[in-house]
Amino acid sequence: MSLFIDLIFPKFCLGCQKPGSYLCHNCRRKIPLVNIALCPLCEKPSPYGLTHPGCKTSFGLDGMVVLSDYQGITKTLILKVKYKSVFDISKTLIDIFIQQHPSFPFLPDLVTYIPLYPSREKERGFNQSLFLAKLLAENYGWPLARILTRIKNNRPQMSINNFQLRKRNIKGVFSIKPTALIKGKNVVIIDDVATTGATIFEATRVLKRNGAKTVWGMVMARKQPIRYVKT
Ligand SMILES: [Zn+2]
Ligand SMILES: [Zn+2]
Repeated sequence: MSLFIDLIFPKFCLGCQKPGSYLCHNCRRKIPLVNIALCPLCEKPSPYGLTHPGCKTSFGLDGMVVLSDYQGITKTLILKVKYKSVFDISKTLIDIFIQQHPSFPFLPDLVTYIPLYPSREKERGFNQSLFLAKLLAENYGWPLARILTRIKNNRPQMSINNFQLRKRNIKGVFSIKPTALIKGKNVVIIDDVATTGATIFEATRVLKRNGAKTVWGMVMARKQPIRYVKT
């Protein structure tokens, strides 16, 4: 089946158009990997991306693992995953993520993802964050759980530049599925990209308000600085 698809839609490197794969070896080396992990709140260095004890808030993230900066070839790859449903690109990103992060300072009970509004998911045909979460869960041997739902069809965050407006736009968008058992659980939440961080911070707030013990974020790319403002 894969060979069949390759014959109809030959693969070209998204960085340099070289045929054969979506990311050639040369362009793979150009991925702007995050070499120094940062606290997701103050964005200063912190081992593994742990939130500094002094930066912690009651309903905030406990840490965030980031693969790459949201620029250059990474930006091209993520935009393709988002809009063109090219699953091979997700696999490429996850392969690099796993290589970069062989272990973590935490052991999650559950891994989940940022949901799309149902009509938007239907229109797009897939949720890129769910796809990434499935691959990560499989690779690390973590149980994948559908915990969050999107109860409001808010404007796409990408269309808003200002952090405060993004925060307002995402407020109250998520809810917990009635069947989700997260009390006392250590949860990892996956998204493709954190631009201002507003989405992952809001999802974390909902998870913690519903009893999650710790919440770590995991994103393929981060736009720096994410300009988080403590509330
Ligand atoms: Zn290339
Ligand atoms: Zn900090």
